[in-house]
Amino acid sequence: MAQQTQEETFKKIVAHCKEYGFVFPSSEIYDGLGAVYDYGQNGVELKNNIKRYWWDSMTLLHENIVGIDAAIFMHPTTWKASGHVDAFNDPLIDNRDSKKRYRADVLIEDQIAKYDEKIEKEIAKARKRFGDSFDEEMFVETNERVKELKNKREALHARFAKAMNDNNLDELKQIILDEEIVCPISGTRNWTDVRQFNLMFSTEMGSTADGAMKIYLRPETAQGIFVNFLNVQKTGRMKIPFGIAQIGKAFRNEIVARQFIFRMREFEQMEMQFFVRPGEELKWFEHWKQFRLKWHKALGLGDEKYRFHDHDKLAHYANAATDIEFLMPFGFKEVEGIHSRTNFDLSSHAKYSGKKIEYFDPELNQSYTPFVIETSIGVDRMFLSVMCSAYEEQALAPNGQIDKEGSAGNAGDTRVVLHLPPVLAPVKACIMPLVKKDGLPEKAREIMNELKFDFKVAYDEKDSIGKRYRRQDAVGTPFCITVDHDTEKDGCVTVRYRDTMLQDRVRIEELHEIIRKATDPKELYRKIVGDSLEDSEE
Ligand code: ATP
Repeated sequence: MAQQTQEETFKKIVAHCKEYGFVFPSSEIYDGLGAVYDYGQNGVELKNNIKRYWWDSMTLLHENIVGIDAAIFMHPTTWKASGHVDAFNDPLIDNRDSKKRYRADVLIEDQIAKYDEKIEKEIAKARKRFGDSFDEEMFVETNERVKELKNKREALHARFAKAMNDNNLDELKQIILDEEIVCPISGTRNWTDVRQFNLMFSTEMGSTADGAMKIYLRPETAQGIFVNFLNVQKTGRMKIPFGIAQIGKAFRNEIVARQFIFRMREFEQMEMQFFVRPGEELKWFEHWKQFRLKWHKALGLGDEKYRFHDHDKLAHYANAATDIEFLMPFGFKEVEGIHSRTNFDLSSHAKYSGKKIEYFDPELNQSYTPFVIETSIGVDRMFLSVMCSAYEEQALAPNGQIDKEGSAGNAGDTRVVLHLPPVLAPVKACIMPLVKKDGLPEKAREIMNELKFDFKVAYDEKDSIGKRYRRQDAVGTPFCITVDHDTEKDGCVTVRYRDTMLQDRVRIEELHEIIRKATDPKELYRKIVGDSLEDSEE
């Protein structure tokens, strides 16, 4: 198959999401709305499965984590106390020629990534040249070109981190000019000054003009947890350490909304705030970093696709922060943030509300404001990472099987297959009668009616079996089950596996266990619990 660029692959994934009922542009008949999307019939199932995997891994696996569901609207003082009214800004810059708007920090981060790419290229070239005798460490230390690139990268990185920490907008612009960063659209360096832009959406609550109150659509779900800290702790008789989990919508008026559902204006977060003793927060920070990485890796999307990225600029509330990044077609990108938020939020809400928000620790015989470790993951970004790693255009040999050696060249056919983790697949199995007569549809429906109480199953009798397989491959259904003329006699059906395309003849009674084994989240929970559970119950 002809090689395609990552950009082309990404475009195909976006088109595939639409064509197969995963993601549609919002209000599409009116030409859509910028960076807002709707999930279709398959998308919603996949999304619900992601949420369930997260929710259960928090609330089932940890007896000291409970959930809540707070309202999107909150008292406006919440956002004063949290710092969002004053500090939830992005630095924006416009290119005067293309009239396109960018985040200044993102332009510079992309520039840093370019240095990294150049260094990687040099290393790859040298590896090719030296073969087995290549010593990468030595090469990086001694090669003049690599040394020069590394120095430039480090200098830029340090300058950028300082400018962000100092909130120095002039310096950000100067960096963009000094690095000769051009607008990707116009190719020019005709930039405006950098300005701050608040990302919160506001609206009004109440009917009369003078009685109406300006309120915000929450930009994160976390504050709903903090303002309910005392409610949950007291009514649930929770003892520190304990966590509160929540899944819900959040809204941000993103300056540059691009890359499909990676950066949306309305999105969904899965957040867990874990309350700990002051002084123990960094230990728990490390614990949650490891636990969350295990949660990701258990899905089997490929361990090499994850990395931690520590923050250069800590948010006003944090004393440690890292991102879990995933390798998307457009590079390593943040999917989840893990932050040590100190006692900033609870203290600030105590100050603004005038209420005492503390915990009496019976073991220490003292009261304190708990410290917080937050794990915050975007459902939509998780969805995107799953989709990107699942999508494959696979070459097939003339016999219709997977062309492992690539020997078919252009002679064979291709299939589009989503290798979704079976736990997350929208449909677990599709039941198909070989033909639409001879009692086969009735038998197929009988099997389906048995399975449907436990699994999301589909029924398909239209077109050839080959075409039906392809339709299921394209939505990631792990099993196709075919009822044929022998089924009535021998009580067996043919199971065809999505990833290998191999087929097995199995007894009807075995189907339930075959599907359960592959799709039961319990199998994943066992994988991620390991030693981390014991730690978390300390
Ligand atoms: P970024 O730097 O990409 O803007 P962030 O650091 O502001 O993200 P957080 O505030 O830490 O993000 O939010 C936690 C998680 O929420 C992110 O890791 C991401 O998965 C998700 N998220 C944040 N903003 C968006 C968005 N605009 N669209 C989709 N998901 C988002």
